[in-house]
Amino acid sequence: MSQIYLGIIGGGQLGSMLSAAAKKINIKTIVYCDDINAPAQNFCDEFIFGKYDDKKKILEFANKVNLITYEFENIPYETLNEINKEKPVLPKPSINKLIQHRLSEKDFINKLNIRTTKYSSVKKKSELESLVDFIPGILKTTTLGYDGKGQYPIKRIEDIQSLKIDFSKEYILEKLVKLKKEISVIVTRFGSNNYVVYEPIENVHEDQILKYSKIPAEISKDIFNQSKDWAINISEELKYIGTLCVEFFIDRNENLYVNEIAPRVHNSGHLTINAYNISQFENHIRAVCSLEKIPLKKLSNAKMINLIGDQIEPYRKKIKFNDNEFFFDYLKKEVKNKRKMGHITTLYK
Ligand code: ADP
Ligand code: MG
Repeated sequence: MSQIYLGIIGGGQLGSMLSAAAKKINIKTIVYCDDINAPAQNFCDEFIFGKYDDKKKILEFANKVNLITYEFENIPYETLNEINKEKPVLPKPSINKLIQHRLSEKDFINKLNIRTTKYSSVKKKSELESLVDFIPGILKTTTLGYDGKGQYPIKRIEDIQSLKIDFSKEYILEKLVKLKKEISVIVTRFGSNNYVVYEPIENVHEDQILKYSKIPAEISKDIFNQSKDWAINISEELKYIGTLCVEFFIDRNENLYVNEIAPRVHNSGHLTINAYNISQFENHIRAVCSLEKIPLKKLSNAKMINLIGDQIEPYRKKIKFNDNEFFFDYLKKEVKNKRKMGHITTLYK
């Protein structure tokens, strides 16, 4: 088979791990990113620095590769659509457009008769006063949020007055779910009714940022099956190609809700690198490059801890790790508060 060149838009830790997985199966990667210090340049075969609206540069990039995928969902739709005219972009830009907007995403999920939290669109501050049924809730920007950015908790009606946010943007108000637990399910879909699905992963957040993930999740058999079924159903309905992650809430009455869909590989799936025969990253690459699907095999239970900000420091100094510990340094130039700097996965029986 002739050499495949895969283009990846975005050069953060996900782009790095995609590049590393591609190398393993002899696929060459070219990463395009708007950050000159993007860590993925340490892992890919070629790195191109350019802005996401630099049409000329991005088309030069497209001309160098056979197909293109992306590591994060906030790439302008116009950009993906332009590139798609030159080379196949997977997952399809239309899927990304649907999911990058929290309202259209939730409308889509509800149309499948899958439960989400109650939500309402908010275009003006005055509209908030009438949405008492959604309070306590969280006001979120409809686009461009991640790691809890662009989110404003509203505990009681009185909080609305003191809100200092920019209403030139559109928001969504989501009713707060009384959380018992959060889980995620990762699916890689290769084609119609042709997919692999990882077992549900239990996730714990601190300050709306993922702190750790583990398998097995401590959940009932019903939730285990329902979450997998819903994730598969979502990927089939989207006619998705590649790896996708569905984030779920479980409330104190054991109700399952879809929180959001990530049309990409996901932080909670980092443990798949060590705990499965094929990681979420390799499977993504296999699916978008139309390679063979290999049956998925779990090798071990696992816990992955995100190293945020200066939590990375002691691990960087550590010389020896146990045989069941796997430390990943994303090689980001600068240590920043709340920035995901690396992770450590521990395998256990
Ligand atoms: P992001 O795009 O930043 O991941 P999420 O919508 O997933 O945004 O929110 C981040 C975290 O904030 C969630 O994983 C959860 O812990 C908490 N959260 C968000 N929305 C709700 C909600 N409606 N009810 C309860 N907790 C929520
Ligand atoms: Mg989330």
